Amino acid sequence: MTPRRNEHRDNPEYFTPIYKMALAQFEQAADKLSLDPNLRKRFTDPKRAIMVNIPIRLDDASVEVFHGYRVHHDTTLGPSKGGIRFHPDVNLGEVSALAMWMTWKCALMGLPFGGAKGGVRCDPHALSRNELQRLTRRFTAEIIRFIGPEMDVPAPDIGTNEQIMAWMMDTYSQFKGYSIPGIVTGKPINIGGSLGRTEATGRGVVFCIMEAMRHLKMTPEGKKIVIQGFGNVGANTAQIIDEEGCQVIAVSDVKSGIYNPNGLDIIALRAHVEKTQFVEGFTESEPIGNKDLLELTCDVLVPAALSEQITRDNAERISCKILAEAANGPTTLAADKILQDRGLFLIPDILANAGGVTVSYFEWVQGLQNFFWKEQEINERLREIVCSAFNNVLQLSLTEKVDMRLAALMLSVQKIAKAKLARGLFP
Ligand code: GLU
Repeated sequence: MTPRRNEHRDNPEYFTPIYKMALAQFEQAADKLSLDPNLRKRFTDPKRAIMVNIPIRLDDASVEVFHGYRVHHDTTLGPSKGGIRFHPDVNLGEVSALAMWMTWKCALMGLPFGGAKGGVRCDPHALSRNELQRLTRRFTAEIIRFIGPEMDVPAPDIGTNEQIMAWMMDTYSQFKGYSIPGIVTGKPINIGGSLGRTEATGRGVVFCIMEAMRHLKMTPEGKKIVIQGFGNVGANTAQIIDEEGCQVIAVSDVKSGIYNPNGLDIIALRAHVEKTQFVEGFTESEPIGNKDLLELTCDVLVPAALSEQITRDNAERISCKILAEAANGPTTLAADKILQDRGLFLIPDILANAGGVTVSYFEWVQGLQNFFWKEQEINERLREIVCSAFNNVLQLSLTEKVDMRLAALMLSVQKIAKAKLARGLFP
């Protein structure tokens, strides 16, 4: 261990349990790569972290102040990239961990981006549309010096969507005096969004699952799938994997879960959710709690909700062959070890859910060039990138005899480490 010049580094504000988890994952990769200690130090802290207070007028004319964050973890390979989360649990540690994962995710996919994440601590469901718009615009104004098509490019995440991105793009453009579509990705198509972006994360999850099945000599037909979460990622994963011939037997959302051992009709379920907002009350299904849902016997389990869902407490009872991490950080370190010992095939988050940021990259490029691609082209390029990343990770995991998460992290860390060495240290 190298002596630390700065003792306060041992306890920075963002050093929360989830950040420690991200850091410990990185350190496993750094150890395995025997990473130069000088480089190691440069990865362990975010490059910059911006904290803002966001005052907005509520509909009842009172003023409320919300806490917002934008963290840039690394910018070695290009502008930083990552979503904006609106959720009551958002804090500096969580956003910093998510920013670090974005760095690894972009590097693994070969995208010319660093990693970032942002968020506002709020309950978006408790705010009116007008309140959400004011919150989004004021937040954008507060962080405006730190974002830009060449600097840092936000996107949707939990609790945000294409409407929020449209407001961010408009606010940024108003400040600059002309339209700048490249400031965010995940925008509506009619203001420069990309075809296929909405489905991209789910599509990437399914590409990875299909590759994993091929490796494990399984065929998709009739395979039982369980999905925790039915937001953008969960719902699109469900629909696309259903089209591959699998059977989605259970899904859940923030409120409750539903189960049908013979498979759910996903198109009808999406129509039900469109109408009622929740999966609850869907015909031809029985209710199931979150805990039981995660422990159902199935072929593929897809956590597509929040972090830290598979822990030391339930890892022994997870009963799937493939675990595809559509969410960021759904498996804790202790659970990782248990799952690995039990021989489950895990597709780590930075690989499984990287389809979203990959099509964000396509959207950014299309916006910069004002030249738009066909959906088929987008999906084909996505398949190429995701499948080749999957196979690179798989090969390294087999040759180095490490699990898929460690292999993915090793590839990412090594890539950025080499880039840092090539660029040198300023001044
Ligand atoms: N929020 C998404 C993620 O965690 C997408 C990020 C992006 O498209 O920039 O990967």
